[in-house]
Amino acid sequence: MQNFKYYMPVKIFFGEGRLEELGTLTKGLGEKALLVTGRKSMRKLGITDKVMKLLQESFVKVVLYDEVTPNPTVEVVNEGAKIAVKEGCDVIIGLGGGSALDSAKGIAVVASHGGSAWDYIGEGKVTEKTLPIVAIPTTAGTGSETTLVSVLTNKKNLRKDAISSPYIFPRVAIVDPNLMKSMPSELTADTGFDALAHAVEAYLSINANPFSDILAMKSISLINDSLVEATKNGEDLEARGNMALASSLAGMAIAQAGVVAGHGFGMSIGGILDTPHGRTVGILLPSVISYNLPEVSERISQLASCFNLPATGDSMNDAWKVIEAIKKMMKEMNFPTRLRDIGVGRKDIPKIVEDCMDRPDIANNPKKIDYKEAQKFLESIV
Ligand code: NAD
Repeated sequence: MQNFKYYMPVKIFFGEGRLEELGTLTKGLGEKALLVTGRKSMRKLGITDKVMKLLQESFVKVVLYDEVTPNPTVEVVNEGAKIAVKEGCDVIIGLGGGSALDSAKGIAVVASHGGSAWDYIGEGKVTEKTLPIVAIPTTAGTGSETTLVSVLTNKKNLRKDAISSPYIFPRVAIVDPNLMKSMPSELTADTGFDALAHAVEAYLSINANPFSDILAMKSISLINDSLVEATKNGEDLEARGNMALASSLAGMAIAQAGVVAGHGFGMSIGGILDTPHGRTVGILLPSVISYNLPEVSERISQLASCFNLPATGDSMNDAWKVIEAIKKMMKEMNFPTRLRDIGVGRKDIPKIVEDCMDRPDIANNPKKIDYKEAQKFLESIV
């Protein structure tokens, strides 16, 4: 019998139109909110204005901080925290993709603990003083609304790393698929593949448990049913809803089981070369599964049902079918398949390997990876 722990304190409000409840839900958490978001898409789509109005209608004061950029930096978070303190904000709302949600989490930590966001990288450095966080995802991929991490980039040493603490689980997540309809096809594919990588990697992790397996497998089925459709027809609310659900479920799975080598390499590549996160881990995914085949082919073969593939009883054969099914999805979406497609060259590999070997994601991988194997792995896909 396996011993394990399951902890997931986020109150999730899921479904079309649930954004309307933002004011009421925030009111219970604080009186003055810092709204953390990006400057371009949310403003252009009118979502920033709508969110501010919803808060004001419920008598929640709101200060806008719209300086978030993709792969958010420590500076963006520290600056946001300064504003939160100066304005006396007592609740932090993240609106946008994973970058906005992670920035909100980082701001909630720094505004309550002081110092710099980079001081809190790693585990066990954050306390219950952390300001309450409300997460409103507008992409379906990172699952940050259901995770306990905030991923930040330090431009000084080109390192991407995470604050990890149960105190940064959002108190409330509003997952409204209406907010995701505006994602262009490429962003839908990138973020959708991030969710798929989360689900598969959580399933492969040496820390997987029966709860994370169920969450991961349901997420993979939903992605198989709906990701290609969502990239073709962004207005398809059923496909958007399935992807939103898949993303939150995969977030719940990684919050329990962690991720493996794909994210270990992906975080290093993102820190050094500022690549789009979902596209990076998506490119790595088929190779990560095949690398692990010798150790866990039986387990991988059990994912066949998530792709509606019949089990043949030959686990190696069924596991390869799983990899083929993922590659087929990639082809249908014109998803890139080589690291060079996102600007990673052979010359970058030593730096990437150097940066990633100490990451917990590498340690979580079922088939062990040393420096040489990491190098070989990346060379095979560059
Ligand atoms: P993102 O947040 O960086 O957003 C990418 C772009 O999409 C931005 O320009 C944004 O303005 C735009 N955008 C967002 N929503 C949109 C919409 N509905 N319509 C049109 N445009 C929209 O992308 P992401 O993939 O959601 O987040 C990536 C970040 O999340 C990375 O830094 C990654 O490391 C991190 N991440 C965090 C976790 C976690 O658990 N905290 C997990 C995985 C990844």
